[in-house]
Formats: sequence, C-alpha cells, structure tokens
Amino acid sequence: MRIVKTKAKSIYTKSRIPGVDYVINQYVGCQFACKYCYAKFICKWKPYGEWGSWIEVKVNAPELARKYVEGGVVMSSISDPYQPIEAKVKLTRRVLQNMSKRTNLSILTKSPLVTRDVDIFRQFKNIEVGLTVNSFEGKEKKLFEPLTPIQRARINALKLLHEEGIKTYAFISPIIPGITDVEAIVRETKSYADYFFFEVLNLRASGKEFQQILRDNYPESYETMVNDEKFWRFIKQLKEEIKRLNVKTEGIEIHKRGWEFIQLQ
Ligand code: SF4
Repeated sequence: MRIVKTKAKSIYTKSRIPGVDYVINQYVGCQFACKYCYAKFICKWKPYGEWGSWIEVKVNAPELARKYVEGGVVMSSISDPYQPIEAKVKLTRRVLQNMSKRTNLSILTKSPLVTRDVDIFRQFKNIEVGLTVNSFEGKEKKLFEPLTPIQRARINALKLLHEEGIKTYAFISPIIPGITDVEAIVRETKSYADYFFFEVLNLRASGKEFQQILRDNYPESYETMVNDEKFWRFIKQLKEEIKRLNVKTEGIEIHKRGWEFIQLQ
C-alpha cells in the first residue's frame, strides 16, 4: 500500500451531490478497494496506480477543519473515513476534534472502527452516522468487496452507536437485483437505524471491471441492470417491497436516466 502524505489548500469542498452542501475528505483513496466503488474515477488524475493500492493522507486536514461552514457536510465521498490506516494515524479523529461542534455532519463508513469516536460524536449538536450494509457474504463478498469488514461487524457498530444515543442510518448500497437482500437487512437493522437510505447500483460508475464480474458471475442480475424493461420492473417491485417494510426513508436513489430519487409516497 502506497501512502502519500499531502497538504491540502482547503478541506471543505462544495458538493454537487443533491442535498449536500460540502464534502470533506481527509483521505483520498481507500484500502477497502470495493470493486464497484464509484470513486475509482479519481485514479485518472493520480499517478499512483490502481484503486486500492494507494491512499493520500492530507496531513494538515485537522488544521483546515477548524473553519466553520454553514450547511450540511458529508464525510467522506472519495474514501472511507474509518479505513484501516485510521486506526494508526487517527486523522479522522483529529479532524472531528477540531471541527466546530455546530457543524451539521453526516458520516458514512463500512467500518466498526467508527465506534471508537463516540465520545466526539456526542459533542456535536447535529450529527448522524451511517453504516453501509448490503448483505454481501460468501461468494459476493469475495468478488465485490473482499477487504471490507463483515456485515455482522457493521450491524453491531450500528447497534452500539444507537445505544450510545447517536442518530444513525443504514445505507443499503449497492442494491443489485437478485443479490442484495433488502428485506433481510432491514429486518436486522431496523431496531438500530433512525432511518434508511436505499441506493441501487450505479452500473456505469461501477466501471468496466465490475460490470464484467457481474456479467460473468450473475448474468441475470446484469441483464436486469441493462435491460430497461426488466430494470423498471425491478424498481417497481423494490419500491413495493420497501413500502411494505414500513421504515423511515425518503425514497430510492437510482442512476438510470441520470441521478434520480424515487419517492415512495
Ligand atoms: S469503502 Fe467506500 S470509498 Fe472505500 S472502496 Fe468501498 S465504496 Fe469506495
């Protein structure tokens, strides 16, 4: 793993993600190296090699994080703030320590390491912490995200945060037809998640290598993703399923005709 220490000019970046004002990335790159990661595109602008083989560590991020920004801030969009290196360098922890506790902050991770920072989360007036849960185990896990923490560890982290009084959400992503068991995830997490976020795989952003993995190993799932009629039938069923589950959510995020958010009401 190549670790590159850099200095950033600023750490809060204006976001183009709908509903998000700023993103903060104290790391660029991710040791979890999910095969479908939408952030892989960043490799085009970096001279270090393939996704998952390098991380940039913005060493001055804690200093830059002192500035207060109005609006919603998401941590992180092109890395996981609690990837393995964080256990050692504690960059995310130092960023959080220095941030104004008035910041409206939303954290997203796949790692149970997030529970280490509960003491700092408690100081924020407006914070939520999300764990990505996607039911990938066994073969899918090996193929799609072999290096991420197991599902059980993520669910336990969600539970602990919830018990500590932190607002939590379960980010169910990526939803892949015939693979992601949405109902099972909701069943296992609904006691610990204040709300749910559902996101269907963005096939285009997942890249050619992942598309090939999906086509070779799960041809029916791939076919549903690329065939418009099958895709929209799947979305209709998913919508009905989520409604039946009766949990708090705004809707389903999909990326078929551009970015779209499907309301459930
Ligand atoms: S954990 Fe998130 S940022 Fe890291 S590789 Fe996976 S999808 Fe990408």
